[in-house]
Amino acid sequence: MKNTEVLIIGGGLAGLTAALDLVSNAKQVVVVEKKPYPRHKVCGEYISNEVKPYLEHLGMDFEPWSLPQINNLQLSTQIGKSISVSLPLGGFGMSRYALEEQLYRLAMEKGVEFIFTSVVDVDFQENQFEVSLLPEDKILAKMVLGAFGKRSNLETKFSSKNKDQKSPWLAVKSHFIYDGHPENLVALHNFSGGYAGISQVEDGLVNLCYLARYDSFKPVGDIDEFNHRTLCKNPYLNEFFNKAKPRFEKPLSIAQISFGKKTLVSKHMLRCGDSAGMIHPLCGNGMAMAIHGAKIASKYVVGFLDQANMSRELMEKAYQNEWNAKFGRRIWWGGKLQNLMMHTKWFNWGMQTVTKSKTIMEAMIKRTHGEPILN
Ligand SMILES: Cc1cc2nc3c(=O)[nH]c(=O)nc-3n(C[C@H](O)[C@H](O)[C@H](O)COP(=O)(O)OP(=O)(O)OC[C@H]3O[C@@H](n4cnc5c(N)ncnc54)[C@H](O)[C@@H]3O)c2cc1C
Repeated sequence: MKNTEVLIIGGGLAGLTAALDLVSNAKQVVVVEKKPYPRHKVCGEYISNEVKPYLEHLGMDFEPWSLPQINNLQLSTQIGKSISVSLPLGGFGMSRYALEEQLYRLAMEKGVEFIFTSVVDVDFQENQFEVSLLPEDKILAKMVLGAFGKRSNLETKFSSKNKDQKSPWLAVKSHFIYDGHPENLVALHNFSGGYAGISQVEDGLVNLCYLARYDSFKPVGDIDEFNHRTLCKNPYLNEFFNKAKPRFEKPLSIAQISFGKKTLVSKHMLRCGDSAGMIHPLCGNGMAMAIHGAKIASKYVVGFLDQANMSRELMEKAYQNEWNAKFGRRIWWGGKLQNLMMHTKWFNWGMQTVTKSKTIMEAMIKRTHGEPILN
């Protein structure tokens, strides 16, 4: 049976950055990821500068990509009232297709081993993990990181909390050719039952990604028709859909997105990224939190493996305390925003009020974002 020091379940942003961090700390790392790279993912693809220095420290070279630098946020209501504020920290646009592919190549170069299949179970006995993979393989590991995202088959296995949670959101994303969207702008346009984010990524492409309540989408049932009937009531989105040319044959979509509270440690496995907790995408820093969380988890894994007499339970407790201290308030604020948005009337009222006040918007940005993390 194969044996490794650390096994990471999931090679999204959290899994890939944890792999790079751990391998640079001389740890033997295996990543098990179910889908080969490169692949598109449903995401707004605006990445907060909070994590740029850390990604560069791990070896990522952004220079050749000439990525759009984003420092302005525009918010519009359903009837097209809008407000713009500058983003204190700002960010950049890069597709998940390109970013994960780059991090994967870097990790391979540095000696991380990748296995492309699904993890179906994790068992912990006598201070070691036994991880079961499809079709019938097993790997032994001293430490396991759960970086399997928000919609994994493993979620129901490890967490009783999420079993009955309602997941009323649907997300849709596509890339477009469109020269009417400024490079430095991330726009959030409200529509009945949701909102759409628009920003540039590499090669001048424009990403449009939206979240819609499933009950507002269901009666229409078709993405093109929903775009036409519901999103296009917002004049900004109407103009976008009239002028922009889609690059994908069909948009990508995912349903059953839950923003419910998750568990940070399951069966002694440290969870990071969306599988540990997810902030509402409106806040625009889920990726930064996933990467930052992976950095924290890696620190505890390295500490535990390097100190033979360290208690596993104390290490797990310390990880949970640090994670909650770093992200608890941000998620709480994101949750408040989400609650407001779950009620159409309040949401519209809230958006109208917000657009009247730059101060409220700036306060919201501050409360849901962190400081830049270095190495
Ligand atoms: C609509 C929407 C828009 C968003 N927009 C933004 C944005 O603009 N900016 C931002 O910062 N954040 C945004 N986010 C949040 C961001 O996408 C997530 O926070 C981020 O993807 C988390 O990365 P992750 O590595 O934790 O999870 P993921 O990227 O989901 O990676 C998890 C990986 O685990 C793999 N996996 C799952 N189960 C198994 C298994 N059993 N075995 C093997 N592999 C497995 C999956 O294939 C996947 O690759 C958005 C989210 C949504 C839903």
